[in-house]
Amino acid sequence: MDQSERALRQRIVEVCREMNAKGLNQGTSGNVSHRVAGGLLITPSGVPYDAMEPEDLVELRCDAGYRGRHRPSSEWRFHRDILRARADVDVVLHSHATYATALACHERGIPPFHYMVAVAGGHDIRVATYACFGTQALSDAVVGALEGRSACLMGHHGLIALATSVDKALALAVEVETLAKMYVHALAIGEPPQLSAVEMDRVLEQMRRMSYGDAPDLDGVPDTPGPLPA
Ligand code: 13P
Ligand code: ZN
Repeated sequence: MDQSERALRQRIVEVCREMNAKGLNQGTSGNVSHRVAGGLLITPSGVPYDAMEPEDLVELRCDAGYRGRHRPSSEWRFHRDILRARADVDVVLHSHATYATALACHERGIPPFHYMVAVAGGHDIRVATYACFGTQALSDAVVGALEGRSACLMGHHGLIALATSVDKALALAVEVETLAKMYVHALAIGEPPQLSAVEMDRVLEQMRRMSYGDAPDLDGVPDTPGPLPA
């Protein structure tokens, strides 16, 4: 294992622990994968994150089996299939976050009740149809629900966030869980009105223009103040 793979494994382990510490997940639920040449690194099945070491991550080859001292996550199929279908992402993060799962248990996604719903790349965050964990049917359902999106809820199960790094995937999962929490609270006084498709397109364009979330170099971006003199 070279230095960069060791560092990547270490960061995956830390992000799994942060996922639980932030209240985004609990116990041995959830799993994380990262694309590597010819396959993916994935968390082992049923190993508590506090006890998980970088060496416990499993290397799954896309064309054959796996290498590691544990079995890969029971959800290796959807991790493999999402990374195959989505050249734009390198990380798949799955968690059983409470509010996102509460909505998903009602088979409800997150509509455009708040402009930040666009953070997942579209006008809404869909919910994938329920299928038993670890099955190809679940993989097919989530790949469909993620079309044109970087996150989805999973019927009677949890959420998935996609990104180009484990840190960005964790940050996106936090956003999705926060939106789910806001939506559940808003629902307490009735179904909130939704932003129009025209407005959501404007928000998506604004996020693109401002490279929202990418800590952009603001020079040359219209409507932003210039740098202060040194
Ligand atoms: P694993 O421990 O096998 O990754 O399963 C956790 C889970 O969330 C299944 O959906
Ligand atoms: Zn799960």
